[in-house]
Amino acid sequence: MIDLNDLDPDQLQAATAPRGPVCILAGAGTGKTRTITYRIAHLIESGFVAPQRVLAVTFTRRAAGEMRDRLASMGVGGVQALTFHSAAMRQLRYFWPQYAGDLPWRMVDNHFSLVGRAVRGSGLDSGKETVRDLLAEIDWAKSSLVSPDGYEAQVARIKRTPPVDAAKVAEVYQRYESLKTTPDGMLLDFSDLLLNVAGALENSTAISEEFREQYRSFVVDEYQDVSPLQQRVLEAWLGQRDDLTVVGDANQTIYSFNGATPQFLLNFSRTYENAVTVKLQRDYRSTPQITELANEVIGKATGRIAGTRLKLEGMRPDGPEPEFRGFDDEPAEARAVAARIRELLDQGVRASEIAVLYRINAQSQVFEQELAEAGIVYQVRGGEGFFQRAEIRQAIGELTRASRRADLPADPVAIARAAFAPLGLTDREPDGAQARERWQSLQALVDLIEEIVSHEQGTDLGGVLASLRRRADAKQPPVMEGVTLATIHAAKGLEWDAVFVVGVYDGMLPYNQSIKAGDHAIEEERRLFYVAVTRAREHLHVSWAAARQEGGQARRKRTRFLDGVVPEAEPVAAAQRGTRATRCTRCGHPLATPAEKILGRHETCPSDADEEVFAALRAWRAEASRVENVPAYIVFTDAVLMALAEAMPADQRELLNVPGIGPAKQAKYGDDLLAILNQFR
Ligand code: ATP
Ligand code: MG
Repeated sequence: MIDLNDLDPDQLQAATAPRGPVCILAGAGTGKTRTITYRIAHLIESGFVAPQRVLAVTFTRRAAGEMRDRLASMGVGGVQALTFHSAAMRQLRYFWPQYAGDLPWRMVDNHFSLVGRAVRGSGLDSGKETVRDLLAEIDWAKSSLVSPDGYEAQVARIKRTPPVDAAKVAEVYQRYESLKTTPDGMLLDFSDLLLNVAGALENSTAISEEFREQYRSFVVDEYQDVSPLQQRVLEAWLGQRDDLTVVGDANQTIYSFNGATPQFLLNFSRTYENAVTVKLQRDYRSTPQITELANEVIGKATGRIAGTRLKLEGMRPDGPEPEFRGFDDEPAEARAVAARIRELLDQGVRASEIAVLYRINAQSQVFEQELAEAGIVYQVRGGEGFFQRAEIRQAIGELTRASRRADLPADPVAIARAAFAPLGLTDREPDGAQARERWQSLQALVDLIEEIVSHEQGTDLGGVLASLRRRADAKQPPVMEGVTLATIHAAKGLEWDAVFVVGVYDGMLPYNQSIKAGDHAIEEERRLFYVAVTRAREHLHVSWAAARQEGGQARRKRTRFLDGVVPEAEPVAAAQRGTRATRCTRCGHPLATPAEKILGRHETCPSDADEEVFAALRAWRAEASRVENVPAYIVFTDAVLMALAEAMPADQRELLNVPGIGPAKQAKYGDDLLAILNQFR
């Protein structure tokens, strides 16, 4: 049953408007998604439309699933809630025989090799980077409805920088399109799915009549990020009809780099003169402290989209002030975030209600490491954990192969750079989105290797590889509920009680490439920051670090998007580092990694632990992790077990002196641990 009392008067107006065009233009957290869900339920309950006749399109598969769940909980079943792609896929399967007869088709399964062939056919060097860049560019062109013939003129018109000479891009694009017609039938990529659906509906009366009989009402969430190609499909679905509800927030346009544009949202009431347009201002998600910050951040926006400013009015009770903190380096930042998360968990905030959001996937590594070290379960959303990524696994493979060669330079960092070059670690960061993502991951791995090496004089490649493998092993993705790690892009539409927006230094947010690309790109980054801060219900922490590594030069400044919003604070000094050791108790040189700081020595410096004690502790941990159904590192990391084996604490008080053992772990495992250690005394 739906209860329309769950909506405020503005939301109610949109939800209960009669069949026909409705547009909700509203800021983050104002209940847009909630309102369209109620609208669907209301249209069905009032008998305006049957559930099977509604098609709701949302941005991600997860959002679609969420909408189906919410409808189901209101007793409404049978509504199609899909992404554009999944909807197009189903429709094309159904209509294909009618549209193309018995010409067989299938999805392109290896984009990369197909574009590679087109690249070689055009006489270009088909290095991985070139292929990846061209792949991304062709995707952009197709989403933007730019044909191979029109490509050159279009990029000139909008002043877009093509990855290679525009005439060459057009040639590769043309070849790629031809290569998809094969003697065994048609190959289709994702954009082709959409293009063919639009084409079938536009060109065949029989198909369009059947389709329009099937679907009567359309609802689109996150409409500000619709691409021209998706819009064309939507128009083909509708035909001459106007039973369409769209909701969006132009201030949350974050995919325009990919061809998306808020113009369809902003022009909606001009396109449909009879449209019911509703603006929502009341923010039900976040505390006034957070909405006020969000208003100020977006209030500084300039350019075309900024004309649509909507001020959020926080409806929730007061909450804590957002926190803004700068750190000397990323490990210190990540450690402080892990410590704060630990506090929230201890206060009873559920792990699934906490998120760490960053600009690019490559930033996750240091946070994964410190969370694991602090025994906090996490999941990386919209991507794999750092060590599970294909390029990182390949890179470690290359490094292992390199280590078998005789003619190696002494410096592991130099070896890594050389070994990763063929994988895409060019001297300069590439422009193409895919190539860039890969480059960033590889660069993060080199940074990590540098970190391992810089504080451990004389570590050779073998030592580096061993250290990398230990880190990778400790971080198998857990299967249970945990803290979410995600890029801001992947966090769109979602919300958490506590949100940590991390790594917000100038050059990362806004991203360097965007700074170079000019104001429109910087404005998109500002919107990204706005999306990030508006994900939080109650606790919001914004942080950045002046250097990548401990002891690194403090070159980075906090994001410009806080200028005039939050006063510059004193940089947080080394005092944040807590009580762990900073120098090796064996060789006296500084320690780098959290694991080393727990051990109080370099991993390669000699240990005085009894191997048997360590083995007994590990066996106990395996059992404990099985019983509790948690990954082993959540019980204790190897470093803590090693520190225990070295310190051999004799009672509860001594146990607490071992780094990595706090009161909570002591209470839970103290007796077990002492019993094991006593067997060896
Ligand atoms: P975004 O722009 O981030 O996608 P949104 O506008 O879609 O946000 P919703 O996710 O629908 O916002 O709603 C934000 C939160 O506020 C949700 O937890 C929702 O349940 C709650 N909410 C929305 N409307 C109301 C209301 N009238 N009363 C109470 N809670 C509400
Ligand atoms: Mg929403």
